[in-house]
Amino acid sequence: QKAQRTPLIAGNWKMNLDHLQAIALVQKLSWGLKDVKHDYSETEVAVFPPFTDLRSVQTLLAADKLSLVLGAQDVSPHESGAYTGDVSAQMLAKLDVHYLLVGHSERRQGHGESDELVGQKALAAHRAGMVPMICVGETAEDLEQHGAAAIPLAQLAAALAPLPQDAEFVIAYEPVWAIGSGQAATPEQAQEVAKAIRESLRELRGDERADATRVLYGGSVSSQNVAGFLRQPDVDGALVGGASLKSDEFTRIIQFKK
Ligand code: PGA
Repeated sequence: QKAQRTPLIAGNWKMNLDHLQAIALVQKLSWGLKDVKHDYSETEVAVFPPFTDLRSVQTLLAADKLSLVLGAQDVSPHESGAYTGDVSAQMLAKLDVHYLLVGHSERRQGHGESDELVGQKALAAHRAGMVPMICVGETAEDLEQHGAAAIPLAQLAAALAPLPQDAEFVIAYEPVWAIGSGQAATPEQAQEVAKAIRESLRELRGDERADATRVLYGGSVSSQNVAGFLRQPDVDGALVGGASLKSDEFTRIIQFKK
């Protein structure tokens, strides 16, 4: 069953790199990846630049026919109108954005985003023809009080609630304590929660969707530890923050060998 899921390596740039730096990074990545194409052609690679970089990166990808997929880091739940500072799903879809990050812990914590709002953003992305990448994960406190899976599963159910049954999505399991800390979960910890997520998807969406949905691990992923995660039966890729900002390191991550 796992063989049917294409591995997905996603680079979340967060609030780093202006559009000129973004162009330079994507160019370096594409040179690096051309050399290793036969190795990574089975892997899907996506980058999530800041909004101000999207148009430049889109133009570059289209001109060079690069096989990188474009993602965005946030979206408004509203279609259009008087929402100063917001960016709509339609605007992002027009820029060939395919994946939309929703529910990242930095938005849940730093911007007070509720489970309900995360679901509305996922719905907005789906309606505009994009694929939401729904982030779930427990804090260190949650882990102590509830174990690893309870909070991620509750976040998952809430985010999926407004989405139609047939909607496609990706799940990124990111323990909050592992993000940017240099202290990644162990492959076994990631597998345990990824497995619980897939079991929950079976109940919420049925076997077909549960078997087809990619569940990624995120939190201090590097070229040193990526293979251990991808070896797990229920982990189908990685959401990479800091290590996605360096072309050499990100290229090594994409070339993971199980
Ligand atoms: P990190 O970030 O790889 O720097 O830990 C991961 C993320 O927040 O998506």
